[in-house]
Amino acid sequence: MIRLTLLFLASLTLAGSLVSCGSGEGEAALDSDANGFFCAECKSKFYTDRKVFANHCPDCKKANIELVVGFVCAADQHTTYGPRGKGALACEKCRKLSSNLVIPRETELKTWGASRRSAAAVGVEL
Ligand SMILES: [Zn+2]
Ligand SMILES: [Zn+2]
Repeated sequence: MIRLTLLFLASLTLAGSLVSCGSGEGEAALDSDANGFFCAECKSKFYTDRKVFANHCPDCKKANIELVVGFVCAADQHTTYGPRGKGALACEKCRKLSSNLVIPRETELKTWGASRRSAAAVGVEL
């Protein structure tokens, strides 16, 4: 009886690892592992898996959301995060206008204050 249960568990684990190693995509330097968004309606900061492009805000459900990018300051290399739509953003440190775009990664989006949301929460069906 015990041996049967162990075998069953082992086959489950095997099936699980086969499924999880299916996505081996190469990553470019400008590529990110997440998509960050800012809601212009309720000021919510959130991010999703890089394959998910949010249709609406997970909090207020409005479609008034913008993709978040980093703006690197030419003077002090400080990165300020904000909606891409602005094209340029004042540096948090020296208030100079920065327009050098970088795509933020998941860790940077977390530091910025965004929380991870599921595809379903942002209106995307996978
Ligand atoms: Zn919102
Ligand atoms: Zn600066």
